[in-house]
Amino acid sequence: MKQNIDKDQTPLGVYVHIPYCLTKCPYCDFNSYGTNGNFPEDDYISALEREIEDSRRIIEGREVSTVFFGGGTPSLLKPRSVGVVMEKLASIASFSPAAEITLEMNPRTADKEKLASLRRLGINRISVGIQSFSRRKLDFYGRFTTPDDCVRALVDVRDAGFRNYNLDLIYGSSQETREEFENDIRTALSFSPTHISAYCLTIEPGTEFATLWRKGRLSLPDDSVLVRFMQSAREILEGEGYGNYEISNFARHGYECRHNLIYWNCHDYLGVGAGAHSHIRRGGEEGWGRRWSNIRNPELYMKRVTDDGSAVSASYDLSRTTALEDTLLMGLRLSDGVEIRDLKKRFGCEPDDSGLRYLQSDGFILTDGGRLRLTSRGRVFTDELVARVCGVFH
Ligand code: SF4
Repeated sequence: MKQNIDKDQTPLGVYVHIPYCLTKCPYCDFNSYGTNGNFPEDDYISALEREIEDSRRIIEGREVSTVFFGGGTPSLLKPRSVGVVMEKLASIASFSPAAEITLEMNPRTADKEKLASLRRLGINRISVGIQSFSRRKLDFYGRFTTPDDCVRALVDVRDAGFRNYNLDLIYGSSQETREEFENDIRTALSFSPTHISAYCLTIEPGTEFATLWRKGRLSLPDDSVLVRFMQSAREILEGEGYGNYEISNFARHGYECRHNLIYWNCHDYLGVGAGAHSHIRRGGEEGWGRRWSNIRNPELYMKRVTDDGSAVSASYDLSRTTALEDTLLMGLRLSDGVEIRDLKKRFGCEPDDSGLRYLQSDGFILTDGGRLRLTSRGRVFTDELVARVCGVFH
C-alpha cells in the first residue's frame, strides 16, 4: 500500500524493529519472540533493506535526526547486519550532524568487542535492558541474566567507549521493598549513565503474567506503594542532577532521548521491521497526518516485503480530533508539557478558560509560561486527565 506523503522539515526519526530475543520474558507484550539465538538474521536484514528502499519517498531529501534499533534484542545482531541497515539508510537520506543513533542491548548478548564494532558503525547511544541488579527481582521477572551479567554489560559499554547510555529499570515486583528499588537506582547511578528509565510493571493482556494474575497467583504492590517508589526515585535522581523530563524517564541535561521525544512531540517517524509503526504529520486525506503499522509476525513480514516491498497491515488518516488528542496524550507525558500557543496555531482552538481553571483547582494540571503541564499528582492519572483536557480544547 503506497502512502501519499507531503514532506515536512520537522525532526525525522527512523525506528528499526528487531523482533528476536533469546527468551521471552513473562511480562513482555512487545512484538518479540524467544529464539535461543536461532533466527533468520540475513533474510530479516534483507527484508529491512527492501522495506527501506520501498519507503524512499518518506525519507529521501530529509535529514534523519535519530535512528533507534529496538526490539526485541537488537544486540543479538552481528555488527555487519547493523552496518547493512545503516548503509541502506545513508544511501537514501542524510543524517543530521548530531544524529542520535541508539541500539538496545541486553546483558549477555554483546561484549566489549561487539560494542566497539557497533560504535565504529555509527551507533552513539546504547540502551541497556538491566531491569534490576537484584537476583530476586531478575528471577521474578523471568530474566535469564544475573546481577553479574548486568554489571559486566555496563562495564563493557563504558570500555567500548560509549559515553551516552541509558539503563532500563523496572519496579513493582511482588513483595518489592522501597529499599530494594532504591538500591537499584543507586547501583544504576554508580555507572554514571546519561539516562535512566524506570518503568512500573504493568500486567499486559496476552502475557504469562496476565495468566498468573487472572489465576490469582501473582500478588503485586498497591498503587499507593508504587507512587511512593516513583517519588523516591525522583528525589534520588533529581538530587543527582537527572531531570525527570517524562513520566518514567530521567536524563542529565542535554541527554534526553531525542528519538523518544519525536514520539512524544508527535513528529515524524518511519518504523521498519515486523510490527513497526510509522507516523507522518502532514498528509492523509484531511492533512492532519497518517499512521500505519506493519504485520507483526516476522515470517509473514519477510514474505510480504519480499513479494510487495511493503508489509503494511493497517493504515489510517488522522482527523483533527485524533491529531489533537494524540498531541495532548503524548505531550502531557513530558514535564515541559505542551505549548498552548502551538495548539491554538495548529488546531485553531481556543481553550475554555473556565474549564482550564476548574482542572487547575483540582491540583492535577497547571499552566505556566504559556505551557500546559501535569503536576506530579496529575502524572499518576495521565490517561484520565488527557480526556478531560481534550474536552477543554475542543
Ligand atoms: S528481552 Fe526485552 S523485548 Fe525481549 S522478551 Fe524480554 S522484555 Fe521483551
